[in-house]
Amino acid sequence: MSDQYALFKDALAQRVLARSTPSGDADGDALDDFSEYLASELWPVMPQELQACTYDSQPPTALVEKLDDLDSDALSNLPTSISDSLISFGIAADWDAARALALAAIRDYVAQACAPPPAWSSTRATECELCDRTVPLTYHHLIPRSTHTKVKKKGWHPESMLNSVAWLCRPCHSTVHHVADNEELAKSFYTLDLLLEREDIQRWRKYAAKQRWGVKRG
Ligand SMILES: [Zn+2]
Ligand SMILES: [Zn+2]
Repeated sequence: MSDQYALFKDALAQRVLARSTPSGDADGDALDDFSEYLASELWPVMPQELQACTYDSQPPTALVEKLDDLDSDALSNLPTSISDSLISFGIAADWDAARALALAAIRDYVAQACAPPPAWSSTRATECELCDRTVPLTYHHLIPRSTHTKVKKKGWHPESMLNSVAWLCRPCHSTVHHVADNEELAKSFYTLDLLLEREDIQRWRKYAAKQRWGVKRG
């Protein structure tokens, strides 16, 4: 399994996580199995350029063209086996929604795969604070910067808290932004403990612990 495939599976898991109910999946097995199924079905549909894309590989414009081709070509023939399973799990309402979900996950994957590698620094945690992997980390503003003006105006938090960060690996970081918008994060999920109280984050964490990514990259 390549790193890029693992990233793609994570991108699908994030989309599924946002749309499915956690009942009966306390250990994250169902999320893992279903994401693996979707990834294995969709990966072969993707052109080589997208499967292999990295920060250094291709000018972004070339990849955007590939994505557009994929959208008008392969995804317009999305097998009903895929849409049927998304529909039966209650994740997509119909074929169009299933196709839109697949495209959104592919775009997320390309964005993540082509993002510049995070810079290492000596002062921060070496393990992701959500999934405990030793991987390159990004920092998440627990009170997102876009909300700071509002937070100050409404007095939600003391100013000294505004710059608190959590060090998260890229998949965990993007999952946090998938489960809540910036204002919700600022208002209700402004510490790691509060995030960890969420059922979807707990499920994600268990899912992430099962994934093989976690080797140091770059
Ligand atoms: Zn992580
Ligand atoms: Zn963030």
